[in-house]
Amino acid sequence: MILWFWRAIAGAVLLFGIVLLTACGSLKEVDLTPACPPGVGGGIRDLGSLKGDDAGSGSTAVRRLLESPNFGATSQAVRDLERGIVDQRLIATLWLLSREHRICIQTFKEGHYFLPGVEDGPRIPEGYGKAGGLRNTHYFGRAADVWWVDGKPVEGNATDQNVLEIGEILADIPPGRRPDQTIGPPRWTKALGYGRKKGWVLAPDQLGLHRDHIHIGYMNDSG
Ligand SMILES: [Zn+2]
Repeated sequence: MILWFWRAIAGAVLLFGIVLLTACGSLKEVDLTPACPPGVGGGIRDLGSLKGDDAGSGSTAVRRLLESPNFGATSQAVRDLERGIVDQRLIATLWLLSREHRICIQTFKEGHYFLPGVEDGPRIPEGYGKAGGLRNTHYFGRAADVWWVDGKPVEGNATDQNVLEIGEILADIPPGRRPDQTIGPPRWTKALGYGRKKGWVLAPDQLGLHRDHIHIGYMNDSG
């Protein structure tokens, strides 16, 4: 009996040690949102605020998206969703993507910067490729930056089948509801082969600026 007891203790200590080692090696990697990589994303943790009496904390579409295990977002992106800043068409598109793939959103409006240290405004700042002066869809809640697909960073996985499928799903959305400002890594864009008609931005300077994420945007407001 005593032997069994000590064995159990030893086993528990060993197990605890392993858990501790794993945890210490990556304390920041404890994460509850599987769609986002370790250390990124507050989607599930922030859900509580959606369930209270907190009026205006999210439409049914927002709630549905946030509750999907395939959808992940950073805390700042979740806040934008909860505040109703994000365009309904974009929410619908992200929902569509999340039905087939795990996607992690880094930014909508909050925390978005074109240039380090330059506060975002209604227009893209000069110096951001040749797009300076154009309307900033992020600022109006009409753009999302997807940095991870099915647990893989977009960067370095531009021609991964799952990452390519994100583009295929977008292209299949009927015109009118389809994003008209899709920008991704050069190799992703080339492999998909879609043109402006499908909503793709092909300017080489812009592709160069999107090696690490897929930007999904709507240029005009829904009105
Ligand atoms: Zn973007």
